[in-house]
Amino acid sequence: MLSNIRIVLVQTFHPGNIGAAARAMKTMGLTELVLVNPRAFPDEEATRLAAGAVDVLENARCVNSLEEAVSDCVQVVGASARLRSLPLPHFDEPDDMAQQVIQNAVQAPVALVFGRERSGLTNDEIRCCTHQVSIPANPEYGILNLSQAVQILAYEVHRAWRKRDDNHFMYQRPLEATPPSRDQFVHFQDHLGRLMQQSGFITQPHARTEEQLQALFSRAQPSRKELSLLRGLLSAFESHLPDSRKG
Ligand code: SAH
Repeated sequence: MLSNIRIVLVQTFHPGNIGAAARAMKTMGLTELVLVNPRAFPDEEATRLAAGAVDVLENARCVNSLEEAVSDCVQVVGASARLRSLPLPHFDEPDDMAQQVIQNAVQAPVALVFGRERSGLTNDEIRCCTHQVSIPANPEYGILNLSQAVQILAYEVHRAWRKRDDNHFMYQRPLEATPPSRDQFVHFQDHLGRLMQQSGFITQPHARTEEQLQALFSRAQPSRKELSLLRGLLSAFESHLPDSRKG
């Protein structure tokens, strides 16, 4: 279960934070680290701060985009100190997040995503997430150091894992009842976006409308089966468009 839980660090500036995050992960039994365009890696400072968790660093994967880091994940939780305008499902309490994450991790990879030291996650990156989580903190100064934020969420995940009810977790949902991967979700969104334009519902790419619909479908948390029904529905509508409007 824990090996299905991936920690993703986006464009980390200080390599020391990568090392400290690796150490935070290993103390809580997490080993899967993915780095999106780190400024400096591998790096001596990272190795120094990883202490006994150098193996986590050695196994870390570097990728070029957040999308690439999470495309096979069925749940992607963006950690953010402040709420964004994007109305994604939001966990105000990390323990609620952790319970859902370990439930999903029984069957498929999930990711916890952390932003840059200075600027956090961009709106586009938040759009890659299915959920957001905030660590409740001092309202006047609630921004944690990156690796400390990793430590707290990793602790919560480990705690939820320790306290899991095995009877409940031994039950494997049929695949079609599990959440779709990000990849499948993105294909659905692209299909919907195309159809909205081809049908004349919107006359040019309209990010805001697409964003609102994306958030709606994210909140609905459709299963694989439900998403494939929706795709079937889109294809049926598409087949009735006048030929000139088909893509
Ligand atoms: N100035 C940035 C803060 C970046 S801190 C901003 O306003 O977004 C680096 C990363 O640590 C954040 O992107 C987030 O992933 C995590 N983090 C820091 N404090 C957090 C908090 N209170 N709750 C959740 N994540 C937090």
